[in-house]
Amino acid sequence: MKEILQDMSFERLTELVAELGGKPFRAKQLFTGLMKGKKISEINVDGALRESLLARFEDEPVRIIKTLTAADGTEKYLFRLADGNIVEGVLMKYKYGNTQCVSTQVGCRMGCKFCASTLGGLVRNLTSGEISAQVQKVNALHASGKERGVTNIVLMGSGEPLDNYENVKNFIKNISAEGGLNISTRNISLSTCGLAPAIYKLAEEGWGVNLTVSLHAADDEGRRRTMPVANRYTISEILKACDYYFKKTGRRYIFEYALISGENCGKEHAAKLISLLKGKPCHVNLIRLNEVKERKLSSADEKEAYRFLGLLEEGGLSVTLRRRTGADIGGACGQLRAGYLGENDGGQP
Ligand code: SAH
Repeated sequence: MKEILQDMSFERLTELVAELGGKPFRAKQLFTGLMKGKKISEINVDGALRESLLARFEDEPVRIIKTLTAADGTEKYLFRLADGNIVEGVLMKYKYGNTQCVSTQVGCRMGCKFCASTLGGLVRNLTSGEISAQVQKVNALHASGKERGVTNIVLMGSGEPLDNYENVKNFIKNISAEGGLNISTRNISLSTCGLAPAIYKLAEEGWGVNLTVSLHAADDEGRRRTMPVANRYTISEILKACDYYFKKTGRRYIFEYALISGENCGKEHAAKLISLLKGKPCHVNLIRLNEVKERKLSSADEKEAYRFLGLLEEGGLSVTLRRRTGADIGGACGQLRAGYLGENDGGQP
């Protein structure tokens, strides 16, 4: 694979253009062109500069190869990377804007029992430019005039963002940069399975991104049954890290809790969650498990889900049951890709 121009900050791009003998204003043209999701070969720079860039950089490091549109307008995409690997993304349309869910790794090594992304383990990290390019491509599809096509970003596609820290950090810097897409860090949410030390690190960055933690259990024993990462960090260590995050950023944090029938949504689990979280500056987001065919776990039904929601509300927690978007086009994280790889012989070129 060649290098990826989208990995570069505007400052680095400016230096590169100078090194290649291009005029300084070309850096701005390139940066703006890339932000619009263009290939290098589609950006209007002079021929010599374009040739030297194309010799060294991927013309189009991320390409949308499939789009599915749901009845509610949710769109799912399969992105093909330059080495033939596949990742997926989603765009959800809300009244206040469009939220894109992006992937940070090809596969994942966290091993959560309910998740399709981790079935084949970690293939590789995405570079910051490969994460940015997912947003640039989708933004270009939905932008109109000066209006951005993507207003909010959630790092909830495949991969564990805090397991790819440096690339995710550069992505957040570049995508929020003025002169680029300029998406405020406050409109970016990062979801983690709970890598506590990296949460402290994130708190020091000064961005105030929304921190979401995948909790999915009310005690360590239960969490270890479905999330191997629970063997490394206890819930109490994670809560400490979250409190530190709040202290540093003033941002309330969110817990994701997928309702798994017979596993984590009984009365006793509600009681434990309430005593863990009551009075904390947090919100609990209940999700009905998306059943993954390779996994044996099944979702709580509607009745169980509302009963659990009611118990947490009565216990004084701030809690919602996430509305389902795009249910008719299938797929929690990883399902679309897993389906594609199954149909297409491993997704190789
Ligand atoms: N690795 C990060 C982000 C990716 S997953 C994390 O663990 O948070 C994004 C969210 O989808 C996480 O909360 C994850 O636990 C959840 N998820 C994964 N598989 C799911 C499934 N089958 N049904 C419902 N939610 C799922």
